[in-house]
Amino acid sequence: MLRIDDIHSFYGNIEALQGVSLEVAEGEVVTLIGANGAGKSTTLMSVCGLVPPRHGAIYFQGEPIHGLAPHRIVAQGIVQVPEGRRIFPQLTVLENLEMGAFLRQDKAAIKTDLDDLLSLFPILAQRRRQPGGTLSGGEQQMLAIARALMGRPRLLLLDEPSLGLAPLVVRRIFDTIRQINQEKRTTILLVEQNANLALQVAHRGYVLENGRITLAAGAAELIADERVRQAYLGI
Ligand code: ATP
Repeated sequence: MLRIDDIHSFYGNIEALQGVSLEVAEGEVVTLIGANGAGKSTTLMSVCGLVPPRHGAIYFQGEPIHGLAPHRIVAQGIVQVPEGRRIFPQLTVLENLEMGAFLRQDKAAIKTDLDDLLSLFPILAQRRRQPGGTLSGGEQQMLAIARALMGRPRLLLLDEPSLGLAPLVVRRIFDTIRQINQEKRTTILLVEQNANLALQVAHRGYVLENGRITLAAGAAELIADERVRQAYLGI
C-alpha cells in the first residue's frame, strides 16, 4: 500500500532523514520505533507532504505521491493524527468530528460513520456537546483518532498516541488501535517511543536511528532482539 524508497528529508541544512526505506502492506499495523529526534515524526510528515523529501520516492497504491500538496495526499486516503493531538479546543466534540469529514460529499454516509464512531468511542458520545478543550488528555487523543477516521482513511498515520497519557489510558488507546485495524480494516503506520506497547499491536516494525533504518523485522522478532530489548524495551 505504501512504499517509501530511500528518502532524504531536510530542515534547512539538517538532513533529518538520511535514506529511509520502508513498506506497509494493506491491512497491516507497522510501527516505527526510535529515540527522541531519530526522525520518526519527520518520516510521517514526509509521507503527508508537510516535509517533502528532497531525494527519493514515496508510492501509495503504486502511484508516486512525493511532491504532491498535502491536501491532495489527504484526498488519496492518507490521514495523519499528529503528535500532541491538536483538536479544535473551542469546537464541540461533534463539530471536531464533522471537521474530519470536510473533504467528503456523501452526507448520508458521513452520518452513518459519525454514529458508528460514537459507538466505538462511547466517551465521545457522552461528551458530544462539550468543547473539545474541556476533555481530558486521553479523551482528546480518542477524539483526534476518531476525527481522522471520519475522513475514511485507507492509511492512518499515528504519531505518538501515548505521549503524556497515564498508563491505563494508553492501554485503552492501544486497544482501540487494534480494534480500528481489525474491525474497520484500516491500515496503520504507528510512530511510538513506547516500543513495548507498539510492538504488541504491530505486525512488523522498523527501528529508526539518527535518520536511518537500522533494523526491520516482524514484531515478535523485534521483541526478542537483544539490541531492541536493551535500547528500547528497557529489559
Ligand atoms: P520525537 O519523538 O522527539 O518527536 P522523532 O524521532 O519524531 O522524535 P523528529 O521530530 O522527526 O524525530 O526529528 C528528527 C530530527 O530533525 C531531529 O534532529 C530534530 O531536532 C530535527 N527537527 C525536527 N523538526 C525540526 C524543525 N522544525 N526544524 C529543525 N530541525 C528539526
